[in-house]
Amino acid sequence: MKVTEHIQAAKGKTLFSFEILPPVKGKTIDSLFTVLDPLMEFNPSFINVTYHRSEQIYKKKVDGTFDRIDIRKRPGTVGICAAIMNHYKVDAVPHLICGGFSKDETENALIDLNFLGIDNVLALRGDSPKNEKYFSPDPNGHHYAIDLVKQIEKLNRGIYVEEEISDGGKTDFCIGVAGYPEKHFESPNPDLDLLHLKNKIEAGADYVTTQMFFDNTKYHEYVKKCRDLNINVPIIPGLKPVTSKRQLSVLPSMFHVDLPTDLATEIMKCKTDKDADKVGEDWLVEQAKDLLKSGAPVIHFYTLGKPQVVYNVMKRIM
Ligand code: FAD
Repeated sequence: MKVTEHIQAAKGKTLFSFEILPPVKGKTIDSLFTVLDPLMEFNPSFINVTYHRSEQIYKKKVDGTFDRIDIRKRPGTVGICAAIMNHYKVDAVPHLICGGFSKDETENALIDLNFLGIDNVLALRGDSPKNEKYFSPDPNGHHYAIDLVKQIEKLNRGIYVEEEISDGGKTDFCIGVAGYPEKHFESPNPDLDLLHLKNKIEAGADYVTTQMFFDNTKYHEYVKKCRDLNINVPIIPGLKPVTSKRQLSVLPSMFHVDLPTDLATEIMKCKTDKDADKVGEDWLVEQAKDLLKSGAPVIHFYTLGKPQVVYNVMKRIM
């Protein structure tokens, strides 16, 4: 079932969804089920699975020179989606990125997803690999998420990249895209970022999932600005718990988001990560309660391998 159909069927009731990372290579699917099992008690409407592109590492050889090796630490997004749907009978939303994919490879991935009965895709650009400063697309790939949205929308109309296919079967993907209440870090200003979001919707995206934020005012203002621009699709707020003192600097530098002074001050006072985890949990409960009150369509939790806090929050708000 499509994300938008879940939202429609809920008739204004707020739904819940979780986002997980594929396990690191070498771990079994059971390690993922261990993370998800407790959360299934809350009947998530769908589960997102992130995509992680290859990283290049340099390995020293005996002669002192280096070999450049491509490694994918967290493979398996498509397989994991199929496993989740099969194991829990819950919809899975694979993240699909532009980086590292040619248009043909994207098409083949979409065909796989369609054959597996996966109805949703979150279409993203992806970031540059760790050792590159700027994002550069595959020579035959897409530069921006909007180009990926356009490809998926075309496939939904039976138009394939392979031009010889004249009578192609149509897919029917529900397309999600990313939105940034605090602006995407590369965008010159918030208005231009919103304009690019609007273009993604006009190109065929059906809903938006936001980057994490820790100040709900930013989400509410963002939704208002979107509505003023006639962006009328569901805007799903993404929430992430702060789980350690280190995250005070890691979250802003990694995700380009602010932590409000009240939250940061409380975390700075904490003596241990356990204390910080508790402050993060209390903060998240308040954020979630406010979003429930204001009628958010879905609350999307980034679990990022830390399901316990999300579990505690869900217990406290249900
Ligand atoms: P875009 O929409 O393409 O935007 C990228 C930048 O380009 C923005 O600054 C935008 O304003 C600008 N822009 C857009 N179109 C144009 C244009 N035509 N001309 C000029 N500028 C333009 N990354 C992963 O690698 N894997 C994941 O699984 C993943 N999941 C995510 C889930 C969510 C909910 C979010 C919010 C982010 C996720 N990301 C993931 C991170 C994401 O890939 C990065 O934030 C990336 O830098 C931007 O992706 P995007 O889809 O927003 O890109």
